[in-house]
Amino acid sequence: MLNFSDMNEHADILKWVESQEQTMKALAVEWAEINSHTYNLSGLQTLSKKLKTAFSIFSGDVKFIDLPDYERINNHGEIIHQKIAPALSLHIRPQAPKQALLVIHMDTVYSPENSFQEVKHLSDEKIGGPGITDAKGGIVVMLKALEAFEQSPLAQNVGWRVIINTDEEIGSPSSTAFIQEAAKLFHIGLVFEPCLPNGDLVGARKGSGNFTLIAHGTAAHAGRDHAQGRNAILALSESIVKISNLSYTRPGLTVNVGTVQGGSAFNVVPDLAIAQYNVRYAKEADQKYINEQIDDIIHKTAKEHDVRIEVQGKFQAPAKPLTKETLSLFHHIQSCGKEIDLDIHWADSGGVCDGNRLQAVGLPTVDTLGVQGGDIHSENEYLIMSSLVKRTKLTALALLKWANDDWNI
Ligand SMILES: [Zn+2]
Repeated sequence: MLNFSDMNEHADILKWVESQEQTMKALAVEWAEINSHTYNLSGLQTLSKKLKTAFSIFSGDVKFIDLPDYERINNHGEIIHQKIAPALSLHIRPQAPKQALLVIHMDTVYSPENSFQEVKHLSDEKIGGPGITDAKGGIVVMLKALEAFEQSPLAQNVGWRVIINTDEEIGSPSSTAFIQEAAKLFHIGLVFEPCLPNGDLVGARKGSGNFTLIAHGTAAHAGRDHAQGRNAILALSESIVKISNLSYTRPGLTVNVGTVQGGSAFNVVPDLAIAQYNVRYAKEADQKYINEQIDDIIHKTAKEHDVRIEVQGKFQAPAKPLTKETLSLFHHIQSCGKEIDLDIHWADSGGVCDGNRLQAVGLPTVDTLGVQGGDIHSENEYLIMSSLVKRTKLTALALLKWANDDWNI
């Protein structure tokens, strides 16, 4: 058997990655300047065409995968069907003995109305731009790491599938079933969300759920018929204060009431009030606890105010603990980091991503292999440009060494 573990070959490939620095920057800038907010279907179409072209360098069919509509609640408390743009998928060597699933999203949090649309050079080291770090830089890293990996004969040992989804920023409601079904065929999951601003990867992640609370009261004239009215805003307000107070009643448990709206005029007793809240938890058992507590709060408050209160929503992302297999994958990546002078550590996070969803179906996943940067989801989002090359080398080497049996899961 030929031994391809020769470090010279790896070194040549890593050198090639360095030669790609300008191309990588240019791609990150180009993709960041295409608005691809989750609900901007035409922007996502423009971007996905470009991504399709970029990933067509590999000898496989880049496919668009239609995703089902997503049901969301509008400002009137009604369920509406939100269209979600197709995801992109490419599977190379599905018959190979080892299979890696590489996932990242192309949607961003910045709507077309947002003033943050362009990339700006901030310093020699940093550029700012919408989604440049979360996660367009990550798409570039994934693309170039695969391009590097394919230069080695070792690549024959590993099949890989790329999935780029379009709804991650709203919790992947339409793509979760698809990526979880796909995940079952793979041995490792690599997700290209940005690493933490200090360069650490994310270890364990909390679970998360988004919920909408809708209070239905009875409208009445505030002067003539005040006693006949049933004030939805009051009932909702009381509920959200109590729900919010559940934060920290268990370690790591938080509830954030993020939006609230209701009422129509000074002199009308409001018959509708709506709040949205997010729950984060560390242990699966906390899900049941929080559901019971919230049910109890709603039940009592509705009764006291003689209104109807309903909850819509669900837990979208299960907690992602550091399992034995995942930890082994982290150690593999850490040892690859050492070879390229990258000191890799990991820290727990309250944030969730598709890594939670992949690992929930049994796929050991490291989910912060994208670029280094910071202030994501804000108008100050920036990318540390040198991280494009460093992180690409890291993933390329992790794949090469896995293909060469230097490490196994
Ligand atoms: Zn992201």
